[in-house]
Amino acid sequence: MKPNWTKSGQLFQEAEAYIPGGVNSPVRAFRAVGGTPLFIRSGKGSKIVDADGNEYIDYVCSWGPLILGHAHPQVVCAIAEAAKQGTSFGAPTERETELARLICEAVESVDQVRLVNSGTEATMSAIRLARGVTGRDRIIKFNGCYHGHVDSLLVKAGSGATTLGIPDSPGVTRGTSSDTVGLEYNNLDAVEQVFRREGDRIAAVIVEPVAGNMGVVPPGPGFLERLRELTRESGALLIFDEVITGFRLAYGGAQARYGIQPDITTLGKIIGGGLPVGAYGGGRHIMQAIAPTGQVYQAGTLSGNPLAVSAGLATLRTLKENGVYERLEQMGAVLEEGLRAAAREAGVPTYHSRVGSMLCTFFTDQRVMDYHTALTASVKKYRQFFHGMLQRGVYLPPSQFETFFISLAHTDEDIAQTLSAARETLKTLAG
Ligand SMILES: *Cc1c(COP(=O)(O)O)cnc(C)c1O
Repeated sequence: MKPNWTKSGQLFQEAEAYIPGGVNSPVRAFRAVGGTPLFIRSGKGSKIVDADGNEYIDYVCSWGPLILGHAHPQVVCAIAEAAKQGTSFGAPTERETELARLICEAVESVDQVRLVNSGTEATMSAIRLARGVTGRDRIIKFNGCYHGHVDSLLVKAGSGATTLGIPDSPGVTRGTSSDTVGLEYNNLDAVEQVFRREGDRIAAVIVEPVAGNMGVVPPGPGFLERLRELTRESGALLIFDEVITGFRLAYGGAQARYGIQPDITTLGKIIGGGLPVGAYGGGRHIMQAIAPTGQVYQAGTLSGNPLAVSAGLATLRTLKENGVYERLEQMGAVLEEGLRAAAREAGVPTYHSRVGSMLCTFFTDQRVMDYHTALTASVKKYRQFFHGMLQRGVYLPPSQFETFFISLAHTDEDIAQTLSAARETLKTLAG
């Protein structure tokens, strides 16, 4: 019953000769689940096809951006139309203002926004801006939250860093990471303590409002609210890293869902519709501190790229339609309940967490609420689950510490098929 993966194996060998580890981003390498990665030939809607012609229902969705599914007709059309008119100018274009306007209208705390090329660039620039505006150095981040591969944020950074067991990367200087204070997610006592001790030195608290890079970990009651209060009282800025959650958990992002307004918001993934885009935005007075109006320098040759902006515009316009987030919520609930029931039936201890269309099955009997409890999950069990699902035509993220993403292209039949594969696979995991 094992699919034929010959061609993928060959392509991976060739890639390893010329690309470190054969991949351009470490989580793609399957190291956390064993085996060799599948090479993907094409995608359409909820499905992807590998180099050997096998088809899968895809829950990676390019790690979050593809909320409309693969090769959505309007997105493809927007990119093609834009390409015909030239791919880059290094001069302003009307579309950039249109995307910025849509973002400002959607995200309540954002009056102005600067477009960049990736989520990493967005968080890196947001940190620089926060330090520039406050004149302070210290940053608080939470263990297991990933904010891109920014030097100062590669401290217990979740995602690939967790998967590969590199909490602190070589090459990050002690000086750089010494201004980063790493605390446990959802632990307010620790945050209060740091603010009491050195509140006047803290430039910003950066947080994923729903953590999505250590599996899915939602904020506990009052967590985000208290972060808002503490930062406001001490003159520090609150940065919501909404690179995953922006336009996914609601049209206005996690901040709309939880009713909290950060000072700076970082975006990425969905706003590029599958092309490379990032953005950071906030109140007008803060954003005016960026060059050329202000002194905080940040630039980009391809920033606001016409193709990427067009793909983002097509995506956001589609997401504005009625019923979109209700549909994602409904599919998420069915998948979550089905997975939980299947695990219970098979007698496999699991903990399921979900917010909207972000979902994770942790193979642990503990309640997961921070990095520490996330790490109680059995990587070995996940590995078996992952491969069992892959053989049955379901492509899950190749690591226990990642999020399953549902797109609007997923159908009720896809979910039913996934649950049937899960029931079979979980039975083989029992004992
Ligand atoms: C993916 C991600 C980033 C980094 O975005 P890239 O486009 O990969 O650089 C930053 N923050 C969060 C929360 C992310 O999930």
